[in-house]
Amino acid sequence: MPIRLLSSDVSSQIAAGEVVERPASVVKELTENALDAGAKNISISIVDAGRTLIEVADDGHGIPADELELAAARHATSKLIQSEDLFHISTLGFRGEALASIGSVSHMSITSRVASAKEGARLKVDGGISGKVEKVGAPVGTVLRVENLFYNVPARLKFLKTDVTERRAIDSLVTRYALAYPNVRFKVTDGKQATLQTAGDGDRRSILAALYGVDVAKQMLEVMAVEEGLSLTGFISPTSLTRSNRKEITFFVNGRWVQEFSLTTALFQAYHTLLMVGRYPLTALFLDIDPEDVDVNVHPTKAEVRFRSQDKIFSFVESPSFAPVPLLRLIGQIGSTYIVAEGPDGLYLVDQHAAHERVLFEKLMAQHDRKSIPSQSLLAPEVVTLPPQSAKALMSQLPFLNHFGFEVEEFGTNTFQVRAMPALFAGGDPSFALRALVEDFEEDETPLQAEVEAKLAARVCKRLAVKGGQTLTTEEQRALLNDLEACASPRTCPHGRPTMIHLSVDALERQFGRRGPR
Ligand code: ADP
Ligand code: MG
Repeated sequence: MPIRLLSSDVSSQIAAGEVVERPASVVKELTENALDAGAKNISISIVDAGRTLIEVADDGHGIPADELELAAARHATSKLIQSEDLFHISTLGFRGEALASIGSVSHMSITSRVASAKEGARLKVDGGISGKVEKVGAPVGTVLRVENLFYNVPARLKFLKTDVTERRAIDSLVTRYALAYPNVRFKVTDGKQATLQTAGDGDRRSILAALYGVDVAKQMLEVMAVEEGLSLTGFISPTSLTRSNRKEITFFVNGRWVQEFSLTTALFQAYHTLLMVGRYPLTALFLDIDPEDVDVNVHPTKAEVRFRSQDKIFSFVESPSFAPVPLLRLIGQIGSTYIVAEGPDGLYLVDQHAAHERVLFEKLMAQHDRKSIPSQSLLAPEVVTLPPQSAKALMSQLPFLNHFGFEVEEFGTNTFQVRAMPALFAGGDPSFALRALVEDFEEDETPLQAEVEAKLAARVCKRLAVKGGQTLTTEEQRALLNDLEACASPRTCPHGRPTMIHLSVDALERQFGRRGPR
């Protein structure tokens, strides 16, 4: 056969083959476009696992009527101008290929309106052939409708799996995007009823429940690690919760779902001997790094990326600075005093009072270091009378108190009026706080001395922390564990008492005679 140039039909179908492999690929591209358009609500309708209809409606910024034809053209994008831009991509799309590809293998229509236009416009594309742009009534945003996918590529249709499998691929994709963008409301319907709906309220754990069920979601451990220019957030499973394959390992890099070998390997390293051979964790992890440090233009469906400093990313994911306390999964409270938790390496008993003291103390000192302690006015100012010695001590501390978020003034002999407290202690008893401040006050203490300030802060935190014997709700218990994990020195209270006791898996096994001499 002689060499000849391919007709544009054939070359676009070849190109489409790379981008649009199955219905889920269409959903991915359209969802990414909606996210790039700044949508806060994304509604997805799927009929017959996407073979008959895929429709993605968003309330993003829309496409101007005179750009509709370009939007559907190959190599047309609003997200990139010059090749250098490729190295600081902050959008999900950039190749200008998806709509052209989808339009060449389906009956597609784009209906869109920008806020400055009185009405919307619609463009139909059938098997790659664009019609005329028509004016239509439409809300601001875009509706992308894709009917009869692959109607003109029967070979592709043959490769599709069963409806159940194709549908599952779509659901798992959308749920993962919903997890990555918890502030966007996602809704998926199958033509009759909603199969997935997220609140868009930023709560990732409830979306996790939609993905894995409530039981699994409850067990997942939250990760939050930040280093210069890098952050890793999301969820990982405890070692007791595993799967026999890697399918539930999800990584997003800068909001983009990637299948990245190096990240998965780093993750396995992190779990190393804790998992049995052939068992894999469940994760939904979100790595955010400077766009300049990652090359996103290395894979046709953008499912892989390259990092500029591969080693740095690897060691960060392997052991992010994960966590001076191993990540804790709440089991419950005993004696209304201790919180029981499971960590990757055994059992933890947390003293709720000592832990809360530590948490309050670090929060207060962090605000203090930033010189921004938010203060909250009391509904009714509280009048507190102190013994003469304590009143004298307090007097010498008044200026210091005021820049610590308290508003306290003298109100007669040995009497003070508290008008505001640090917001961190909202709901705490003001007279308790004042008394704490002058407790064990030593004559030679001079205010504004860093050490003294920390000492005073520790006293207030001690007084206002939850007490042993106080029943906490599950949410309060979980919040306390999360806060403790975020502390710089989580293992002791500000006065040096331990906040937790650890029983390692190893120690448990020995105690139960499963290991070592019997
Ligand atoms: P890319 O996303 O790589 O730019 P696409 O083919 O997916 O390429 O889309 C082409 C262009 O059409 C985009 O650059 C964008 O300007 C516009 N577009 C597509 N979908 C939407 C949408 N849902 N809302 C607003 N603009 C969109
Ligand atoms: Mg796109």
